[in-house]
Formats: sequence, structure tokens, C-alpha cells
Amino acid sequence: MVEDKSQLDQLVAFHGHLCPGLAIGYRAAQAGLAKLGVARARNEELVAIVENDSCSVDAVQFLAGATFGKGNLFFRDFGKQVFYFARRGGAAAVRVALRADVMSRPPEQSMIADRIASGEATESDHRSAAEWRRQKVDYLLRAPQEELLDVREVEIELPPPARIFRSVTCDRCGEPVMETRTIWQGDEIICLECDRAQENG
Ligand SMILES: [Zn+2]
Ligand SMILES: [Zn+2]
Repeated sequence: MVEDKSQLDQLVAFHGHLCPGLAIGYRAAQAGLAKLGVARARNEELVAIVENDSCSVDAVQFLAGATFGKGNLFFRDFGKQVFYFARRGGAAAVRVALRADVMSRPPEQSMIADRIASGEATESDHRSAAEWRRQKVDYLLRAPQEELLDVREVEIELPPPARIFRSVTCDRCGEPVMETRTIWQGDEIICLECDRAQENG
């Protein structure tokens, strides 16, 4: 897939910076959507499942239109750069996974990363790490897809669509709250925020 400059610029503006994680998500979302044969999701018809909550997910939200707010983005905390894209009502889903070694560091960069983590890095360490990241981003944006990603059609069970629940008013704070997120205390119905405050207080 050819790099779309203006789309990438908009994505970087949305995320706040251009980093290796964002580049991975950018390539993964492009690959997944192309394989699925869909463009950006206007509503909930497209579903994405992500197995990490790092920078890459912002690219998935931006490119696929699968967002936390619309309820068509699902997070499984598996710590993997793995992304599923599927259409509601469609049979197939696409699984996109980052290949091993794509993000591996040369030993010298690993040592620099350790020094940065322990606060012992020199200015030249920081420069070298920044340069390595810049080169990595470049590589991630330009490398052939097969080199970066494993893309496959799979069958998965989709999480149920987002539901809208009735609101009630909390008897403590007087604020509206989703009925399924309340508890009864005696004859009062209270929200979880008030319940938490009472536990801590
Ligand atoms: Zn980032
Ligand atoms: Zn309350």
C-alpha cells in the first residue's frame, strides 16, 4: 500500500506524534481494511478488536473508524500487536499480526534503552535512540507489507453490538447514570462513583 501523505499527516495530528507504534497501527489498519475490502466505518458495521492499548490503536481508531466511543472497538489485554477487523453480518474477519523481529533492536540499541530506563543515558545515547526510532518509523512506513505483517482471514465470534441503557438519577449526587451501573443501598439507588467515594471516605 502506498503511503497517503495527507492521511498520515492527519493521523499524526490526531495522535500527537509520529512513533514506531503509530506506524505499525497505520500499516496494520491499511492491511486489514484492504483485505476486508472496506473503507472507514461510518457507524458500527465495522468492528476492530485490538490486543494492546498502545500507540498503534490510535491508528486503528483513526483509519478504521472503530472507536471506543462508538463501541465498535474492543480491547483484549494480551500485550500483542495483533488486530482483528470484521464486518457485522459478514462471515470473514481479518487478523493482522506484527511479525517477530520487526521491532527487534540491535544489541547496541538495547544497551542504550537500558541506560535510558535507568536514567544513566548520555546526551549522545538519547540522540542515537531518537535516530534509531526515526529510521524505524521510516522502515515501518515503507517496507513491503509481507515483511511486516501476517495478514489472514479467520473466523471469530464478534462481541455483541453496543447497547444503550436507560438512565436513572443517583440518589446521592443527583447525576444521571446508566441503570446497569448502579447499586441499591437500602432504598437508595446510587452510582458507582458515590459508592467508591463512600468506601474511600
Ligand atoms: Zn505514539
Ligand atoms: Zn452518585
